[in-house]
Amino acid sequence: MSSPKSQTILVTGGAGFIGSALVRYLIRETDNTVINVDKLTYAGHLENLEEIDHSARYHFEKANICDSDEMKDMFRKYKPDAVVHLAAESHVDRSIDGSAEFIRTNIVGTHNLLDIAKEYYEELGEQKKKEFRFLHVSTDEVYGELGEEGFFKETTPYDPRSPYSASKASSDHLARAWFHTYDFPVLITNCSNNYGPYQFPEKLIPVVILKALQGGDIPVYGTGENVRDWLYVDDHARALYKVLQEGEIGETYNIGGHNEKQNIEVVNTICSILDELQPKDKGTYEDQITFVTDRPGHDFRYAIDASKIEAELGWKPEETFDSGIRKTVQWYLDNIDWCEAVTSNNYDLERLGTK
Ligand code: NAD
Repeated sequence: MSSPKSQTILVTGGAGFIGSALVRYLIRETDNTVINVDKLTYAGHLENLEEIDHSARYHFEKANICDSDEMKDMFRKYKPDAVVHLAAESHVDRSIDGSAEFIRTNIVGTHNLLDIAKEYYEELGEQKKKEFRFLHVSTDEVYGELGEEGFFKETTPYDPRSPYSASKASSDHLARAWFHTYDFPVLITNCSNNYGPYQFPEKLIPVVILKALQGGDIPVYGTGENVRDWLYVDDHARALYKVLQEGEIGETYNIGGHNEKQNIEVVNTICSILDELQPKDKGTYEDQITFVTDRPGHDFRYAIDASKIEAELGWKPEETFDSGIRKTVQWYLDNIDWCEAVTSNNYDLERLGTK
């Protein structure tokens, strides 16, 4: 059941991987107006939005969530009915090399945004106040790591172990505090590893695809046995909208794809899809796999119990890993120009986060 009337939704980080999938979804599938507020760091690219940026319901503002004046302007100018907060520094390896920007954006920036959104909320009339929501988007990495067994539930105690996950955990605590202390209408989601089109080529799946196509070594951390639960990004975008529309204020929802895979399984799957779609002259892509020193503090396993969002809101992932990864590999093959454009000035697929 979606909201009967169209809303103005302010999305932070809408030029990033998940944010742009959400913005494309909102413009394509709903009548809502979207304000995309993004600082355009190395990870934010307006190319991700070309499919919808002609829409009269889409507005882009280059702004920093840490800047109070800029954020106040956003609320004053657009008077949003809801906020979905995705802007963050998001790459664990980069947080190992330098944590300061993670603390600034993920913690200080989230605090700034919460404070300004709360001020705005308190001035709203009764009806608008009743409808207003602030959805804070977070990660399952706040729960720490699992052994061979078990799943993260919404009640799992926090145990973040990287500078990235510690900064996200901190922002989750702030968002929850704004609900409990100020009755500010917060919802929180914690999701597993996303994959799909438009993911900046620094994360496992796009790195493997591009390294394979370049003919170089395909790096696998440690023994490749670490397990992640993979969520197709468009399934995630649908889940976020569902939580925004139907979730209960103050609640947390875990979002996962029921796709637990060892990293090495993911890499082998990509290699075999590439062997089929773009065969090499000689040998197979698996020949390029190289095991490299593990990431420091590499969490062994993440797995999400997504039964709450399924039971309470009726959301389920539509993609299996097999269908999602095939679409993803095909997308990268068809969009090599995008990869070149987004990495041209600042990133060369080099290894990060070795301390
Ligand atoms: P991303 O790195 O692709 O995009 C982040 C976006 O935020 C970029 O467009 C960037 O320009 C923008 N941004 C960064 N700092 C900003 C600032 N100070 N002000 C305004 N904009 C700023 O990240 P993503 O993978 O799309 O992740 C989005 C959110 O989802 C993050 O909060 C992340 O922690 C969370 N998350 C991601 C994953 C995943 O697998 N990618 C999994 C769980 C949770």
